[in-house]
Amino acid sequence: MFKAILLEKGEQGPIPQLVELNDSDLPEGDVLVEVDYSTLNYKDALAITGKAPVVRKYPIVPGIDIAGTVLESQHDNWKKGDSVILNGWGVGESYWGGMAQKARLKGDWLIRRPEGLTAQQAMAIGTAGYTAMLCVLALEDHGVKPEDGEILVTGANGGVGSVSIALLAKRGYTIIASTGRPEEADYLKGLGASDTINRNELSEPGRPLGKERWAAAIDCVGSHTLANVCATVKYGGVVAACGLAQGMDFPATVAPFILRGVTLRGIDSVYAPLERRQQAWDQLANDMDSDVLDNVAQVIGLSEAIPKANDMMEGKIRGRVIVDVNN
Ligand code: NDP
Repeated sequence: MFKAILLEKGEQGPIPQLVELNDSDLPEGDVLVEVDYSTLNYKDALAITGKAPVVRKYPIVPGIDIAGTVLESQHDNWKKGDSVILNGWGVGESYWGGMAQKARLKGDWLIRRPEGLTAQQAMAIGTAGYTAMLCVLALEDHGVKPEDGEILVTGANGGVGSVSIALLAKRGYTIIASTGRPEEADYLKGLGASDTINRNELSEPGRPLGKERWAAAIDCVGSHTLANVCATVKYGGVVAACGLAQGMDFPATVAPFILRGVTLRGIDSVYAPLERRQQAWDQLANDMDSDVLDNVAQVIGLSEAIPKANDMMEGKIRGRVIVDVNN
């Protein structure tokens, strides 16, 4: 028997419970993994609380991130004892995820945990940190350099925002953090932000074009914020759009794109190709200092993931949440 969080479909939304399962309860897959850690991302919070229909099939074990060790494998790439990580591929949405002590998965979804990262550190990074790295790579693909000027990061206290700031700071960029929690300014500056702005400056309907300020931006928020960010990026700049914490809408005009040559780069972590994933993870292993990881992450036990999901929906979480499934 092993422990898991299971979401059953209820009349009013999902019913999350801590349960005990057998190996025979697990869905099909060619690799059985002993899970060390999962994480609580915004998407997991949506799944557990039912605030958005991210779960496609009930019952389901949530958890879009997994760090663990291969127990059994029928897949050519993996053997017993391999240290693996998994992010996305619909795990925790359509397939059973990481908030359990065991997971049966497709070997094609797994990547090797880079040397130099423990399982806990890998989950301090998790999907949020890996998405942050995809955003930073997108800015670099565009040719953005530290001397080009300020980089804006919205949703700064969140997992993606926090890790984005740390990664950009390590590369020498000047970062302005947009946040609704100005009381966390010291934390954000500790990660490497030069300054903070109040997110209210960006969250209301704005003009098609504003004063050019940002060399580039990483946006975790969407909606009016993303529209205002695009309207204030400098000529030829780039915005990496990865999130929807304010909303899924994008009430913008084409003005920034056709008058300032601004590029909007969409960032998807779930189905990103394997090579891009490995590139992002290898860079993360190289770039993330262990003290930064300790600073951005808190560790909770499996059962705590349920109340923490509500806190996350209320915007009360700072940084990353690691779920120790064996606690
Ligand atoms: P978190 O919940 O950790 O952080 C979101 C942050 O957004 C909050 O901490 C808060 O920052 C800010 N925020 C919350 N509500 C609002 C609001 N109404 N208006 C403006 N800002 C708000 O989430 P993650 O960092 O894990 O994820 C960020 C976003 O990226 C989410 O929308 C998530 O779904 C998305 N995502 C997308 C991925 C992809 O593949 N494209 C992968 C991973 C995440 P503050 O308090 O500083 O204002």
